[in-house]
Amino acid sequence: MEIAVISGKGGTGKSSITAALATLAKSAVLADCDVDAANMHLIMNPDIRESFVYIAGEKAVIDYAKCRSCGLCQDYCRFDAIRFGEGKYEIDEVSCDGCKLCSRICPAGAITMHKNDKSRMHTGIYRYGHMVFGRLEPGEENSGKLVAMVRSKAREMSEKSGINTILIDSPPGIGCAVISSVTGVDRIFIVTEPSLSAFSDLKRTIELIDLLGTRMSVIINKYDLAPHVSDIIEEYCREKGVEISGKLPFDEEFVHSMVQCKSIIETKPDSEAGIVLSEIWKKLLNEKIRKQISTIN
Ligand code: SF4
Ligand code: SF4
Repeated sequence: MEIAVISGKGGTGKSSITAALATLAKSAVLADCDVDAANMHLIMNPDIRESFVYIAGEKAVIDYAKCRSCGLCQDYCRFDAIRFGEGKYEIDEVSCDGCKLCSRICPAGAITMHKNDKSRMHTGIYRYGHMVFGRLEPGEENSGKLVAMVRSKAREMSEKSGINTILIDSPPGIGCAVISSVTGVDRIFIVTEPSLSAFSDLKRTIELIDLLGTRMSVIINKYDLAPHVSDIIEEYCREKGVEISGKLPFDEEFVHSMVQCKSIIETKPDSEAGIVLSEIWKKLLNEKIRKQISTIN
């Protein structure tokens, strides 16, 4: 069973909640697909077993021994990635889209394309099973492809180890990397918080998951910080027929547990948030059992 934990915006507590669910699962393959800001390994502290290079496109590089400073490359770069400074034309790695145009038009043949090989995917063993996570270098692209690579590795680990539960910590937002992280999963938890921006993002996230047709429910984190906004979110979900799996109060223990590289279930399972998360996990297990029975029948 593949379960994805997503959120329309960052900072809702999605990763802390995923870590708590992994603890409750007791045995799970954990896939950190938040490749732009992977942090699950900081909580779960895996023993890294393998690292793979991920080629995230190409970047243009100027050979100054050949460059005649004609400026043609700057004129034609529509990504504004080439600037003149300190007596020479320079390519800004972050802005370069890798379109190759400059390398084709340079009259001196001074520009070549180099592979972006700084991004990585790591696999390892953590205290509840196997873990895989991707780390995209700042400014590098194709995050959706790296997410697909992480998911494929997670499935392979699940098959080899016999651990059937795959928990996915998805990137925030509703872009291509998110779609790549949730396509084909069995179940989605959307984590939100009671703020107007989070509510707006939640609406777009629900619309997206609706299109995919995957079973989803919402977890409202820190609901007590703005109870009236939580009520609005609940009302909206009721209208849309989306279940609220649970409401967690603001709890500083989430931060304390993270500092100790632990989940809240490991440090304070009897906290209100811990109890709600345990209930959410129990409900999920019941769903799974019901699904298995209906498949047999
Ligand atoms: S087009 Fe080629 S020769 Fe002209 S400035 Fe750019 S790198 Fe140098
Ligand atoms: S590869 Fe494309 S984006 Fe990059 S510097 Fe050359 S023209 Fe600009």
